[in-house]
Amino acid sequence: MDSSVTMEKIVSLAKRRGFVFQSSEIYGGQAGAWDYGPAGIELKNRIQRFWWKEMTQLHDDIVGLDAAILMHPRVWEASGHVENFTDPLVDCKKCKQRFRADMIPEEKLAKKECPECGGELTDTRKFNLMFKTNIGPVDDGTGLIYLRPETAQGIYVNYKNIAQSNRMKLPFGIAQVGKAFRNEIVTKNFIFRTCEFEQMEMQYFVKPGEDEKWFDYWREQRWAYYQKLGVRMDKLRWHRHGPGELAHYAKDAYDIEYEFPMGWKELEGVHNRSDYDLSRHQQFSGKDLQYIDQDNGNARYIPYIIETSAGLTRQLLMVLCDAYDEEYVGTDKAEGVSEGNSESNAQRSMDDWRTVLHFHPELAPVTVAVLPLMKKDGLAELAQDIRKELKEDFSTDYDQGGAIGRRYRRQDEIGTPFCVTIDYQSKEDGTVTVRYRDSMEQVRVPRAELAARIRADIKAYKRA
Ligand code: ATP
Repeated sequence: MDSSVTMEKIVSLAKRRGFVFQSSEIYGGQAGAWDYGPAGIELKNRIQRFWWKEMTQLHDDIVGLDAAILMHPRVWEASGHVENFTDPLVDCKKCKQRFRADMIPEEKLAKKECPECGGELTDTRKFNLMFKTNIGPVDDGTGLIYLRPETAQGIYVNYKNIAQSNRMKLPFGIAQVGKAFRNEIVTKNFIFRTCEFEQMEMQYFVKPGEDEKWFDYWREQRWAYYQKLGVRMDKLRWHRHGPGELAHYAKDAYDIEYEFPMGWKELEGVHNRSDYDLSRHQQFSGKDLQYIDQDNGNARYIPYIIETSAGLTRQLLMVLCDAYDEEYVGTDKAEGVSEGNSESNAQRSMDDWRTVLHFHPELAPVTVAVLPLMKKDGLAELAQDIRKELKEDFSTDYDQGGAIGRRYRRQDEIGTPFCVTIDYQSKEDGTVTVRYRDSMEQVRVPRAELAARIRADIKAYKRA
């Protein structure tokens, strides 16, 4: 059996276990859009919370914002998106496929040769990635409005509101999570690059001249975040943008890249955006966006901005790929997978393997699954009672169907870190068994200590 992680396996598990479905699947699907199922929305919410806590709760000088997706169209002129937010596009005259010119091997592009069929390519033209729509009752172009292609601009246009209402002093940051839309030419690799996605962005406003110091600081902070998230750090690396790669606003930029099944790809950007954005908004809006530095004789200046820009949905894909594992566990009688002895040899050899998601317990869609060994003799009632108690503190699942080993495997597949099994001994002495996802170790614990034990295990979690 080939146990390597492939995108096909991730897509298949994501669908089978309710993480991610194709949008409008019954109509043949909508390219560039995906729906998050019961497990997916739990995972997405938890990644978001993890990031939000990291940014706002653990950094005293960062506050939150939720700005509207629809913004004044002048915002996108000021930001440079109307002019510059383009991809170079080429079409193949023969097979009619469309490509991003910067993703075609150089020698093929120079020869104008299609990378798929060898046919002739058109000249490269600029293609703006912003989705346009219309606001108001008439559709004559006067109501042109864009779906935001990044959340950052909502932060910039609110920077003065926040500085004043919350009496923020430099340096300070504003964090925001929300949808962004880009008319991406190539949307492949599942949820990696989509037309509708979510971003988790934090913009940190600093005094000019201190920007490089804070840029270094935020690179360190973001690296440490992924350590906390419990992902394999040898799958992460830095990529510094060369002069040709730098965006129009950037003074310096690094990406954190992850080694996805399809190769090393950008996960998050840490950018020194200089005073570009606020200067432009000051110019285009005619409003004074200078900061008044009361600690420095009321000096006035436009702050520099250090940005950390992560894709929430892309991070979810990374977490799924990173957590995914197929392990040979042998026919595990102790776990009772092959109970009953009625299965075929083929079924038994399937049972020798398990698919498991090694999520950080704080990210797992279900934290604790409660499983009565049998439905009868009052075990189901006792298990339900224990679940009721646990669900005040944890996200729980209850499963009483089938062999216990099968139930463990089902929980492994959605990454449930703790299974609590209730058996006959539980009725007698009030203990239950905690079965750990990663080690498959089983430990008996008094019911009264169960919640505290799980809480302590979550806190102490380290990726094996
Ligand atoms: P690329 O060059 O790959 O198109 P980018 O450099 O323009 O991406 P940014 O504008 O820096 O990307 O966006 C910040 C983050 O938002 C990215 O690191 C990524 O995690 C996420 N992101 C950007 N575009 C998409 C998309 N189309 N689908 C999903 N996530 C995206």
